[in-house]
Amino acid sequence: MDDSEQLAHVNWSASAARLFEECPRRFFYRYQQSESTGGHSEYTPTPGVYLGTVVHKSLSAQIARWARGENIHLQTATDYARDKLEWYVEANAEEIADRNGDTDEGEFNIDSFAHSLIRTAREHIKQFFRVIWPHFEGHRYIAHETRQTFDIAEEPVTVQPDLCTRSAEGDFVVTDWKTGAYDRFSNPTIQMQAYALYAHEAYEPEFRRIRVQLVHTGSGEFDRMVPTRDDIRRVRERITNERSFWNSQRDVGSYETDPTVKKCSQCSYLHRCTDGQAVVGDTQNQSK
Ligand code: SF4
Repeated sequence: MDDSEQLAHVNWSASAARLFEECPRRFFYRYQQSESTGGHSEYTPTPGVYLGTVVHKSLSAQIARWARGENIHLQTATDYARDKLEWYVEANAEEIADRNGDTDEGEFNIDSFAHSLIRTAREHIKQFFRVIWPHFEGHRYIAHETRQTFDIAEEPVTVQPDLCTRSAEGDFVVTDWKTGAYDRFSNPTIQMQAYALYAHEAYEPEFRRIRVQLVHTGSGEFDRMVPTRDDIRRVRERITNERSFWNSQRDVGSYETDPTVKKCSQCSYLHRCTDGQAVVGDTQNQSK
């Protein structure tokens, strides 16, 4: 068998675990030894994904100022986002116009599209300054945006929280910004448990002193969690089980497909997956 048809080494992370849970085959394609693009063009992030990245980077630059003892600055943050989004729209104008096309509401206009992206980014950033950041008053900076790897039962685990602080009360607080639409029914548990485990391993032995929060920059809402001993036990077990499977099962046949129209129609590996093509093709045929 070709070496590239084998799974590569994968550190455990909440995003890898979630991908594996959603569709094992997609996980395999994502982490296989050396992925062939199959002649497909290089990945260009969608406007929504790019917007999220820009808001994250803009906030990260402000937190770096705060860490240096400087004031954070709304205008600098929104100027940064505007410049990046203008560049993105200009660089990808043709592709964006092709994707969006004209609609019943009228002709697609690239300038209005750019303005709307910039306006959305500005709203997220304003929400951060006015509603979210006041919650960090009295906090002490520990770290931000650093990729950390640690071992659990000799298995490597990777996390990258957006911000770690100590509150005025002495709690260790791990925060992640969420720029996507707030989904009340999403299940953020695994990511929060992974952050709690990291906080416990690296900084804070007492569970009751750990706070994990996902902060939605669109709405200003917080999902908060104080981990229990059970949370930590569950995530440790999951890490051990999943890493054991990924280590022992390395060929594509061990990673089953789990096709649904919703997942497969948005999957970047659809061109390689006949099961996915079948469910997407079935719907297309039915709608004809
Ligand atoms: S196309 Fe569907 S079934 Fe195939 S890998 Fe992607 S999500 Fe899984």
